[in-house]
Amino acid sequence: MADNAGSSSEEDLLKPSQKIKERWEIVQKIGGGGFGEIYESIDLNTKEIVALKLESAKQTKQVLKMEVAVLKKLQGKKHICKFVGCGRNEKFNYLVMSLQGKNLAELRRSTIKGQFSISTTVRVAYQIIQAIEAIHSAGFLHRDIKPSNFAMGKTPETKRIVYMLDFGLARQFTNNKGDIRAPRTAAGFRGTVRYASINAHQSREMGRQDDLWSWFYMVVEFVMGGLPWRKLKDKDQVGHMKEKYDHKTFLKYLPSEFVDILKHIEQLKYHDKPDYDHISEKLQSILLRKSISFQESYDWENT
Ligand code: ADP
Repeated sequence: MADNAGSSSEEDLLKPSQKIKERWEIVQKIGGGGFGEIYESIDLNTKEIVALKLESAKQTKQVLKMEVAVLKKLQGKKHICKFVGCGRNEKFNYLVMSLQGKNLAELRRSTIKGQFSISTTVRVAYQIIQAIEAIHSAGFLHRDIKPSNFAMGKTPETKRIVYMLDFGLARQFTNNKGDIRAPRTAAGFRGTVRYASINAHQSREMGRQDDLWSWFYMVVEFVMGGLPWRKLKDKDQVGHMKEKYDHKTFLKYLPSEFVDILKHIEQLKYHDKPDYDHISEKLQSILLRKSISFQESYDWENT
């Protein structure tokens, strides 16, 4: 959650009780990400509580249009927010979607040790693989896989389901015929330094494997409570550390099934389709071997 969550400031595009199109009434700000502002709002038509994402019309990098396109394409999928509406005025572009609960970065930080148990990590990691497969199946890469871009549902029916957020950096990797687009020789860096793949650091065209690298770094952070480069700010410094770092070191902290999972991710190249089923099966083997049931409570449900 943003530092200013729940409070409003002068720079905010909207204030509590303001309405958009006479339909959505602002309750409070719940996030201010890199590109937009997120507000909890009431849909006056349905009385439902919703999330409203805003992007200032002044912003040079307009990404909400892409976000809307991807969200619409993924409607009906399990780990995806419901699309409610979108539009624009002179001041901002907006997207209205179902409201979810806390994101996984907040939930990890709320634990005593800043770590998730193997049980919670593997079940969350499994759901995230399904979400990544869904976006890839639609022909898009997410390109910003990280804990704050996944949130747990908010209702009794959805609170144990992980939702994938933020398609602002998504990119279509297939053409209209469904073939893989030719990779560009150089592409600008996209994503978040801490979770970026080595390939992304090198500003190479990103592929499906890069979303999986970010997934892997995220899983390591869940289990260990931090990544070795967490104190470094500079993108290139982090990139060099990742290049030198023996990723097998991570395997000491992870269930042995990850040996295979890491091997699989390591050998993927731009044109390769990841074997999502293989990864899912390995994750399920961990649960089976350790007698972990999907019904068990998640770490944050215990407190
Ligand atoms: P940005 O693109 O500006 O980074 P995000 O879409 O990543 O914005 O959202 C920033 C934060 O706002 C997320 O980490 C999450 O905590 C919260 N958030 C975003 N969308 C929703 C939603 N639909 N329901 C609940 N919280 C959300």
